Order: sequence, then C-alpha cells, then structure tokens
Amino acid sequence: MNGVHEHCGVFAIMSLKEENIIPYIYWALLSLNHRGQQSHGILVYRDGFKLFKGLGLVEDSRLKGLGDWVDGLSSNLGIGHVRYATSGNLSREQLLEDAQPQVINARERKIGIAYNGNIVNVVRLRQSLLSKGFELRGTSDTEVLAYLLLDAIRSEGCLVEGIRYVMGEVDGAYSVVGITDDGMFFAFRDPHGIRPLAYSIEETRGLIAVASESVAFNVNGLPLSGFVRPGEAIVVDSSGMERYRLANSNSAFCAFEYAYFARPDSKFEDGCYVFEIRRELGRRLAIRYSEIASRVDVIVPVPQTAIDAAYGFHEESGKPIAPLIVRHRYVRHRAFIMSPEERSLILSKKYNILLDRLRGLRVALIDDSIVRGDTLRRLVRILKGAGTKEVHIFSTFPKITSPCFYGIDMATFDELVGFNRDTEEIAELLGADSVNYQTISDYCKAVGRNDLCLACVTGKYPTRYAQDLARRARREALLGHKIRGRIVETLGR
Ligand code: SF4
Repeated sequence: MNGVHEHCGVFAIMSLKEENIIPYIYWALLSLNHRGQQSHGILVYRDGFKLFKGLGLVEDSRLKGLGDWVDGLSSNLGIGHVRYATSGNLSREQLLEDAQPQVINARERKIGIAYNGNIVNVVRLRQSLLSKGFELRGTSDTEVLAYLLLDAIRSEGCLVEGIRYVMGEVDGAYSVVGITDDGMFFAFRDPHGIRPLAYSIEETRGLIAVASESVAFNVNGLPLSGFVRPGEAIVVDSSGMERYRLANSNSAFCAFEYAYFARPDSKFEDGCYVFEIRRELGRRLAIRYSEIASRVDVIVPVPQTAIDAAYGFHEESGKPIAPLIVRHRYVRHRAFIMSPEERSLILSKKYNILLDRLRGLRVALIDDSIVRGDTLRRLVRILKGAGTKEVHIFSTFPKITSPCFYGIDMATFDELVGFNRDTEEIAELLGADSVNYQTISDYCKAVGRNDLCLACVTGKYPTRYAQDLARRARREALLGHKIRGRIVETLGR
C-alpha cells in the first residue's frame, strides 16, 4: 500500500535516579521512525529547556548535528517526537519550525509539548486563542494545543485541571507528552483513546517512560507495564507517577494501527503482537473468499505490511507464497510529493518485481488496505503486462469510504477509490480480476476487540465535530465540488 503515510510517534522518560536519559530517547525515536520521517526532535530539561530539531530520519541527524548537541549534555527528563506532517505548511523552513517538541512560553509559564494525532476543531481554537492575545507563529496544531493548555493551567489553577479543560475543548485524536518548567513530565490521551499511548515503569533502575508503541520500550530494555487509558492523564515527578481519569467516553482506538501503521512487533491493549493479528486477518480473507483462494496459483504480498497477512492466507489456503515484489530497502523517495510520471518511475525504482516468475499464473495480491489505489493500479498493470493470467486483490482492511480527521493522511472523500464505488467498479478501475475486502465483522474478530474507531469504513466518527465535518464534506463531494487543502481547515471555519 502506498500514498498514505504514518502520522507521529511520541516518547517521554524520567529517571528517578538521575541517570542520563538522552540515549533512551534516541533509541526510542529510532524504533518509532516508521511513524514519521519528515522531522524529529528531542527536548530535555536541565536548568531550563534544551531542544534539538532535525529533518528526515533520526539516523540522519546523528551524522548531522545531533552528536554536537548531545556532547556534554545530560538530563534525567526528556521527551522526543517523530513527525509526518498531516497539518501545516510543507516548506523546509516551516517543517523545521513545526517540528516537535515545541516549547511555548506565555503568561509567565513555559511548557514543552509533543503529540500524535489531529485536532478537528483547530480553526475555532486558533481563532479563540488569537482573540485572547496569544501570538501563534507556526502552522501546526501543536502550538494551538500547547497555548490552550498553558492558558488552561493558568485559569484552572493546576496542570491536571488544565488537561481536563483541554479534553473538554479539543475535538480530535491526541496522545500528548510534555514537560513543565518545574521539572515534571505529563502525558494524556484523548477521551476516546484514538491514538496509542503506553507506559513503562522500571523500578530497579528508577525509570518511568511513555511511548506511542511498545517497541520503544523493547529497544531500551524496559517492560511494557500498561496503557494510558482514554481520557486519562499521568503526571510524573521525582516522587513517581500519578494517574488521573479526567473524561469518560467510549474507547475508539484506531483500527488502522493494526493493518498498517504499527510495527509488527508492537503490542496494544489486546495483548497480541500486531503481526499475529495481521496473520489472522490473512487467514480470515482466505476463509471468506475460499472459492477465489482455491483457484489462485501463488500468493504475492505487497511489501511490507501485507507480508504477515499473506502468511495467514497461505496457512489457510495451502497455496504457495512467493515474495515476488521486493522493496529496495534504502530507496526512501516519497511518492506523495511527486508528479504522476515521477510516481510511475519511482514504483519501478522502489520495488523489484520478479516478473519472470509470474508469467501464466493466477495471482492473489495481498495488500494491507486500498486508499487511493494509484500504486495498486500501476502494480496490476505491470503484472498483467508480464503475462499473469489473473490478478485478484485481497485487502486486509475493509473498504475505505470516508476520510480520516484523526491524523492520518487521507483527508478528502474524492481521493478515496472506495468512495461511492462498488467492489466491481473498483476492480475495473484497478484493472484487477477481483477485489476482495475484509468484512468489518471479520476485522473486529481478528483484532479481538470491538472498541475501535472504524470511521473511515463506516462513516461513523467517534467525535461530534468530525461527524459534522464529514457530513458536509460528503455532500460537497457528491456534488462534485473539490475541497482544496484539509477539510478541517476549509470547512472548519
Ligand atoms: S478514521 Fe480510520 S484511520 Fe482514522 S482514526 Fe479512525 S480507523 Fe484510524
């Protein structure tokens, strides 16, 4: 799958024994880099805030400036972030300006903050802050969130009540980490817990950490101790960690984390590794579409995220699996910023497709999801051009028919191949012999939980403002009106 990009990853850590935590943040961000590769940042607290920001992969900065910044620096408290911009301007300067963590200074308080998600009512919140005299510099949602929190801490009298106020005001998805100017760290998750957030307590070494995915703990030798609950805040200071339940809503965890975003070796609340769930998704596809599965000659996964599902499909159907599409590991060009011609070219540069092994075969092409469909369409054209007899597409994720307003880069109805088309029409558009989507009920059974956000496949959004935006955007799309830019900014005024 291509054309949809990860959003962000966060990490925070405190050592109660004055150990230097900077190496932990570095390794955590490396392990979370799949969640965002446009920019990254580290903020530590030692006699005030010390901030590093870089563009590209975290590993690139190790060679370009991070080493100098770290030299001689030591701290027992810090946060880190990797970002893929789903909001804001994409110029190099602006990407650096909007990189997180961000440090905000207003009304005699200062906080550093980083988050994963998206604020749906950002336009109204920004206007309200401007009318109160706050000077917002960047174009991302983060500073809106930070100013809102600073203002609320002042008006509500303390950090925890400030967070409670923010949860009541902000519509959207947000898993937040931050540091205060008196040396505490905090983390909180929106009332529906749409984006992930886990914590670790390592008592022997006196470490407390929070991360988007458990892999950030694994890489640091830390245990996965639990998850920040929807609507919960945690506050960590030199005496340890306190938890506060601040909002009560139904949990609606992003279903797409399982199919696409998360690393296969991460675990969420269900307790399974993501790769185990993906394997089950493949198995269920083979059962649901057993007639087509029985007719194919070979199973070919689209790398990387469909590989586990392809194994499940293989286990159930008994058909051979062959990695005939191989990704060139170090080609990092991003298809979304290219012209259609450049995209076609990069597809052949990005993947090595072993066409001589496909001739005359009926292929089950397993992909994690179908969003815009442009990469799949090109892939099918190449496979058919190489003489395959049939190409049947299997999507581990159900049919995506609605945009995501919660931090995923699929923002409008008209860009979605699944919007207003039935499966046969989609197959025809992609040039495939059939398209076979996971059903919603099979998806929930494979994941083992029902408390999921599935708004992009059902059109039912867990938050009120998003539901209203979707209704208006859908109407515009059905009228054939194109919405320029992000729906939350264009229609949210
Ligand atoms: S709309 Fe889809 S991608 Fe967005 S949070 Fe919900 S499940 Fe995830």
